[in-house]
Amino acid sequence: MASQNIYLPHYSVGEDCYREIPFITSHFGKKAIVIGGKTAMDKAKAAIQQGVAGSDVRLLGFLWYGGDSTLENVEKLKENPLVLQAEMLFGVGGGRACDTVKVLGDMLKKPVFTFPTLASNCASCTSLSVIYHQDGSFKEYYYEKQPACHTFINTRIIAESPYDMFWAGIGDALSKEYEVELSCRGRRLNHLPLLGLGIAKTCTSPLLHLGKQALEDCKNDKASSALEQVALDIIMLTGIVSNCAVHQNQPDPKDNYYYNSSLAHCVYYGSSLIPACEKHLHGEIVSFGVLCLLTYDGQFEERDRILAFNQSVGLPVTMAQIGLTESALPVVAKKASSVIEWTYVPGSPTKEKFIQSILDADAAGRKALKE
Ligand SMILES: [Zn+2]
Repeated sequence: MASQNIYLPHYSVGEDCYREIPFITSHFGKKAIVIGGKTAMDKAKAAIQQGVAGSDVRLLGFLWYGGDSTLENVEKLKENPLVLQAEMLFGVGGGRACDTVKVLGDMLKKPVFTFPTLASNCASCTSLSVIYHQDGSFKEYYYEKQPACHTFINTRIIAESPYDMFWAGIGDALSKEYEVELSCRGRRLNHLPLLGLGIAKTCTSPLLHLGKQALEDCKNDKASSALEQVALDIIMLTGIVSNCAVHQNQPDPKDNYYYNSSLAHCVYYGSSLIPACEKHLHGEIVSFGVLCLLTYDGQFEERDRILAFNQSVGLPVTMAQIGLTESALPVVAKKASSVIEWTYVPGSPTKEKFIQSILDADAAGRKALKE
């Protein structure tokens, strides 16, 4: 059996966590280049400079990552003299900026440190990057040999980040427990996916108990304990699960597995073909997908618990709230049945049952809105 390296992410969290940069990076080098989104670097620049002030860490400069995670942008950065000179890469921003810097670090074999400025996904701590074509369409996944060496989660910056991104981040994180549990069901799991499943089971509770408060605090730019717990859920819990639950591109295809998402994301992929759904955020659609998954699986009590939560924070509970109509469902189901997640749904999933689950979840949502 082939040997395996296992990395569990390292991270710091708190309003002052950038002060830990010199200590955390001390074994990796002194010269760092900061690469990120423009707005993200505006938000984080002063705090990073303060964090390394008086230490051995030298910031060579602040570079824009190029606006999208494309291989073309990675190639441009590869030729930048400051990048070549740097011993460490600091990726600052949302998912696309962090994904770009992760690929760059993997190709140049330079250590990467990430500084997420939004709590909307887990990109800053996973060893997987989503790569787009230059026209903005999805190209492929890039699998790094290891995740970032360390992730610095500055809750002051997250508290001041756009409310909608945090809100949708909660909607996306809500899917983790149910999707991983469904994909893993009935399988004899090895060490790593077993670990992922264990952590997936911790993802829902902080969202349900603290999500509403955390959103309120985000609205008021308050770096509260509730906001911290929910940010850790969205960025780290789900990220650790991703690192454990996905194993792709193995020499022997029998060693590949993908337990990271399931029917809630199938609803998202299907909806991505429907123009009226385009203006809705990924996590927003996924959070309605969770209701569809739980309906499909006959977990009605749990479905109603999540439905009540969604309603309490303004996440969608009906098809209309994400722009879906009954006539669009055959297209949604066709796409859903073509993605890798579908093949891990236990039993023999059918498009008819999938469509019926969406309709039933919608009916439950409409009923709840009337009450
Ligand atoms: Zn997602």
